[in-house]
Amino acid sequence: MRHAIAAALIGVALPTAAVASDADAQLRQDNAFQQAEARLAAVSFRLATRAANLCSRKSPSIGIFLRQLSDFSLSDRAEAIRLYGLDRGVGVSAVAPASPAAVSGIEPGDVIVAVNDAPLPDTTQIDRTAASSKLRSFFQSAMQYRPILLRRLRAGTESDAFATPVVGCALDARLAMSKQLNAFASEGQVVIPVRFALFTASDDELAVAVAHEYAHIELGHHAADPKRDGEYRTIRGKAVEEAADRLGLRMAHAAGYDISAAIGLWRRFYGAKGPVPAFLTRHPGLARREAIVREVMAELGAPNAP
Ligand SMILES: [Zn+2]
Repeated sequence: MRHAIAAALIGVALPTAAVASDADAQLRQDNAFQQAEARLAAVSFRLATRAANLCSRKSPSIGIFLRQLSDFSLSDRAEAIRLYGLDRGVGVSAVAPASPAAVSGIEPGDVIVAVNDAPLPDTTQIDRTAASSKLRSFFQSAMQYRPILLRRLRAGTESDAFATPVVGCALDARLAMSKQLNAFASEGQVVIPVRFALFTASDDELAVAVAHEYAHIELGHHAADPKRDGEYRTIRGKAVEEAADRLGLRMAHAAGYDISAAIGLWRRFYGAKGPVPAFLTRHPGLARREAIVREVMAELGAPNAP
């Protein structure tokens, strides 16, 4: 399945762009993608729920990432059906630990065939972005009801699971099958390329990066512009980056992550060989970013309990 990509959805997150290459195929073979997706689901859910009081926009979540047939190219769909049963519903690709989905017994590999007795929307005839949006709306509206009833298919047998959504930051994150070594916000979502996820040495580092990108969304640096038909625009600059660093670090700390990890992450990042990537030149220098971490650490004290 050379072009496959996995989709994501936290609370109800969404799929991502497919980039085919030998390296990507290798990554997937090694299960690295699935492992990175499990980490991202865990980190995103923990940030969204435990740092909820730092977010102005909130949404319900049960803590799962999903994949659907439209995430796969036409030539890969037969294999996606064979591997994941995606002709029957949407597949669960990751479940955050201790999330409502985990508590309800939902597991990666389950196929959700109905929610609150309503069948999943048919998204096979529309493109990935539209399909993601439709699926997200479907789940968001289903999650107005508590608990929600999930009918899932596992090993050929259907059974019911009840999950009670929790409200947290409206943090949608997805893992992208991409070799880019940076994280970013796109279309209101935090996008973590799998290469970047693998570059992070710990969940503390991953949390700092996810929270920094989400902070850009929370602070309105990346937002839909009503004057431009809802097209997303991004504001850049060193002051904007400092603000995102500060809020992101506060969020990661609130979620019980050790934010001193940011120093190691950024040192390795800035120390990477080759020319300084363009996105880094928009950010404050390494020394300044380290100073911000130390300031926030002095202000907040020791890490919260994990
Ligand atoms: Zn940034």
